Amino acid sequence: MDKNSKIENPAEPLIFERSSAGRVGVEPPCLDVPDIDDASFPQGLLRSDIEGFPEIGEPETVRHFTRLSQLNFGVDTGFYPLGSCTMKYNPKINETTAALAGFAGLHPYQDESLSQGALELISELEEYLVEITGMDAVTLQPAAGAQGELCGMLMIAEYFKEKGETRKKVLIPDTAHGTNPATCHLAGFDVVRVQTGQGGVITPACVEGLMDEDVAALMLTNPNTLGLFEENIKEIADIIHAKGGIVYCDGANLNAVMGLMKLGDMGIDVVQLNLHKTFSTPHGGGGPGSGPLAVKGILEPYLPVPRVVKKGDKYSLDYNKGKSIGRLKAFYGHFSIMVRAYTYIRRMGPVGLRSVSELAILNANYIKERLREDFHLPYDRTCMHECVLSDKFQNEYDVTTLDMAKRLIDYGYHPPTIYFPLIVHGAMMIEPTETEDLLTIDSFIDAMRSIAREARETPALVKGAPYSTKTSRVDETRAARTPILRWIEQ
Ligand SMILES: *Cc1c(COP(=O)(O)O)cnc(C)c1O
Repeated sequence: MDKNSKIENPAEPLIFERSSAGRVGVEPPCLDVPDIDDASFPQGLLRSDIEGFPEIGEPETVRHFTRLSQLNFGVDTGFYPLGSCTMKYNPKINETTAALAGFAGLHPYQDESLSQGALELISELEEYLVEITGMDAVTLQPAAGAQGELCGMLMIAEYFKEKGETRKKVLIPDTAHGTNPATCHLAGFDVVRVQTGQGGVITPACVEGLMDEDVAALMLTNPNTLGLFEENIKEIADIIHAKGGIVYCDGANLNAVMGLMKLGDMGIDVVQLNLHKTFSTPHGGGGPGSGPLAVKGILEPYLPVPRVVKKGDKYSLDYNKGKSIGRLKAFYGHFSIMVRAYTYIRRMGPVGLRSVSELAILNANYIKERLREDFHLPYDRTCMHECVLSDKFQNEYDVTTLDMAKRLIDYGYHPPTIYFPLIVHGAMMIEPTETEDLLTIDSFIDAMRSIAREARETPALVKGAPYSTKTSRVDETRAARTPILRWIEQ
């Protein structure tokens, strides 16, 4: 065979392009209810056919999606140290409980008397999260972290409205996740930037200088996105409270403090949790997630409806909360993610949850210490559950964080979060999570050191990576802004 006859492994076509008329993939079961005549439906709503719907047999459908799944990288295929995202292993028992027929088959309009088990689970999960955070009440309604933030900021706006105050500003540290300023803007607030101090945390002096009676809230993340604990939190909270403000904590990093300390004890008034980070169910595919909001008593009246209430041993839904911000999400939130988080919490228990945080912190510090000679540490101090490195040493050879992230793919690892937080030039944010064993972490460290050596000795090799994937470097901005969703014959 000469090299021109080499068979290229073709890209997977769209399922629509595999379609051919008349093929059937599904045989619906026989009717188990009386057949009714089409004439009883409004004629305008009936159709005989769905235009462009793919017609394809079952085996080809299964193969198509299985092939696509093999192009993916997931926590079940390899180490996924994506900082801030907590891509931890998802115990399979979570899937078993979420698939129980009584949960999976439950209709959201089912009568309360027939959904007591689901309401009990919601109510108990709220109680567990109250206990873990040290707050007074929890809503499970928000669909993800960002919506939990929005829920919190809308409640804060309502709180000040009722007090007859028109506070317009929210203080946000410059290390914040992009959703924080976006949320505040959406809720009608102006964002004021709080500059991170030398030690990688915000200082009471800086907050004091910015705080006035026009500030509704401080919105900070603890531990912050540099993986550092905001050690001045109590003092800072006191400064905010003294002028009537609210302290909002982005709780996406709860993975580092669970069982070790309670956010409620630090002066925090409201915090969103990301069940799909801290409590397994990692969300690499884009969802669904769940972003419960935990609040102190002063904000409780504004929680979204319906609330699950318990009278005697019966659970019901209460829609009549006069001061509530209303509904945030259809029905009651993403119930199946709640079942998974509930299962995870019950399985771990209080001691287990505490060891999650301890091991997450240990793993991140171990990586940081073993990589300190090969990579620059912009904030060289003990970290929490993630560590941030930079490409400063490699820039000398014209190798950047992006190049090294791409090269890691060839070594079989998902790259860490890169170029975030924004205040670190060429940041690499590594979050190993507690679920990785020493062998995996050591192999990852070896890969990172090997890439650092390649950067010194053969920089062009690193700059051309990845070599092991179907596509190499794509224009990521254009791919996101103007995706080409059609299969183009080349
Ligand atoms: C993930 C994350 C968010 C947003 O949460 P989503 O569930 O993705 O909406 C907000 N803040 C921080 C620090 C995060 O890591």
